[in-house]
Order: sequence, then C-alpha cells, then structure tokens
Amino acid sequence: MVAPRVYEAMAKPVVGHLDPFFFQVNEEIRAGLQQVFGTQNPFTLALSGTGSAGMEAAVTNFVEPGSKFLVFANGYFCDRLTEMGIRQEANVVRIEKPWGQKVSDEEAAEAIHREKPQVVAFVHGETSTGVSNPGHAIAKAAREVDALTIADCVTSLGTMPINLDAVGLDIAYSCTQKGMSCPPGLAPITCSPRAMDRLRARKSPQRTWYLDLKLLSEYYDGAHRYHHTAPISMFYALREGIALILDEGVEARFERHRQNAAKLTAGLEAMGLEMLVPAENRMWALHTPKVPAGVSDLEVRKKLMERHGIEILGGFGPLAGQVFRIGLMGEGSQSAHVDMLLGALKEAL
Ligand SMILES: *Cc1c(COP(=O)(O)O)cnc(C)c1O
Repeated sequence: MVAPRVYEAMAKPVVGHLDPFFFQVNEEIRAGLQQVFGTQNPFTLALSGTGSAGMEAAVTNFVEPGSKFLVFANGYFCDRLTEMGIRQEANVVRIEKPWGQKVSDEEAAEAIHREKPQVVAFVHGETSTGVSNPGHAIAKAAREVDALTIADCVTSLGTMPINLDAVGLDIAYSCTQKGMSCPPGLAPITCSPRAMDRLRARKSPQRTWYLDLKLLSEYYDGAHRYHHTAPISMFYALREGIALILDEGVEARFERHRQNAAKLTAGLEAMGLEMLVPAENRMWALHTPKVPAGVSDLEVRKKLMERHGIEILGGFGPLAGQVFRIGLMGEGSQSAHVDMLLGALKEAL
C-alpha cells in the first residue's frame, strides 16, 4: 500500500535533474536511508530502477568476471542472484537449502572458509518463502576470508532491523514498493567504505554503464555531473516515505511489524493452520501458512479478492499450491488488517 502522504508528495512540481532543490531532497533521502539500513556508509543512495536494479548494481559492480561468488540459495531471489553472477562470468558456488529452510550459522561459516569466495550473497528476507536471515554468521566468516557480503534487503528495509554496520554487512539493496510504502521505481543501496575501496581497485571496468556506482557517485556527490535523468517524482515519494518512518520512529515501526506479525501468526495457528517457517527464522513482513490438505489456494484467494477485496498470494516454484503468502508491509502492517484478513480467511477456508 502506498501511504496517502506519498501520493500527495508525488503531485508536487517536477524540477530539473541538476536543480539544487533536487539534490537537497536527495541528501534527505540519503540520511534517512542510513537510519533505516542502520549504517553510516557515506555511499548510501537510491538508484533509478526497481529492487532488481539494486541487485544488478550489487552484482555487476562487485562480482568480477572469473572471481568466486558464493550464493546461499533457499528461494527464488537467490536464484536471480545466481543468474546475475553467471552473466558476469563469475565462478558461482551455491550452498543450497530447501525453500523455507535456512542455512545454519555453522554451515554458513564452514562453506565460506572452505570456498574462500571474493563475494558472498544471501537474501535477508526471502519473499518467496518467508525466511529471514540476519546474516551475523555470514558477515563474520566473510570478513575472516576478506570477502564482501551482499544482502538482499528488498522486503526487509523498513519492516525489520537490518543493523548493517553492527552485523558487518558490506552491500545491501532494497526497493521502494514493499516496506517503504511508495510506488515501485527506486532501489535504495548502501555500500561500506571497504566495498568502495574494492570497487576503486577493480581491474576490469564494470560491465554496466547505467548502474556504474563510480559514475553515479559523480552525479550524486560533489561534482553533480549529469549521468542520467533522475525520476524526480519518485524521489519526492521516497523522501515522504522516509519522513513517515522517521515520524513514527524507526524502532517503533519495526516493533509495529513485529507485533502485527505475531498477531497474524497466532491467529492463523488458532485457526489450525501450520506455518512453513519455524518461529525463529520468520520475517515480519511476509508470512507463509501452509495450505490445508484438500484446499485449493487459488479458490481461497479468489474468494478473498471477490468478497473482501483482499489480495494475498500463493506459493510458487517448489511451494506452488502449498503455502499462502500474506504481506504485512509498511502501511499494510496494521492490526485492523490482520483482524480483517483472519476473519475473511476463516470464512473462505
Ligand atoms: C521483490 C523482490 C526483489 C525484486 O524487486 P523488484 O522491485 O521486483 O525488481 C528482489 N528480492 C526480493 C527478496 C524481493 O522480494
């Protein structure tokens, strides 16, 4: 859901992409993103593009051809990271877990020490399964072998703590349309000074021009040299989305997501539904109860939409027909929404 204040902000007059007012808006966004990511990384900004542009920027800038790229794979978005690594002609090593499960800290550390990759990637909040991985063990082991870490925080940003600096993650990216309550269109990204040093020392030029972070820093930092025409209205939207978070308080917002997640899961379990993901590995923004035996997830979802105007999703890939996927993100994470959904779902089942 897009917050009403965000829609209003998008109706404001568009200025030029080199206008000082635009850069002022952008600096507010950058400072706000640092707070939501939990980082002091100077290189924190919003790329023009959706979450996948953030993913592509992370992979194409930091994974060099011929280097070793380790991906912790337990869902759909890890597969997309893998595909991008292959297209960069990296030596991609996948450590696999079935969808809905999470690599243990011991397994993660062992794999990183064994493979000694240059870059490690994992998905912080796997929207295809509901699994969250805060990444402590991955970040620690990666630093021990001098590897950079990439965390996909597309659904985590604004819905649960990332604590990028405290955990020791190097690169994280996200989107605007999930936890940030804006339309799709920008990809927040943050890179540690360590990662930026690595980028400057890179031997081969990045194979992307549009998402070249060095060129982008010449546009957004000091020189303000034209690179591309930033989608100004989306920056107004994101500034407002961030202002909403700061007004509520970053911690209070996470706590709201945690509480509504807990309320939803308790309600689902009281209804006799079983959750796919064990409590300790769950995200706060996306929930995956199993579809009861003999029930068609398609039929249930159709009823929810037609009778109540509620949209939830089904599982896909290995989880097709096996789980519902219920989003409680940003503006959508409301106690009243949980009540409404639980009532409607009970009736539909
Ligand atoms: C949605 C999503 C993406 C892709 O983002 P787009 O905005 O659709 O390009 C990547 N990773 C995760 C975990 C997602 O949930």
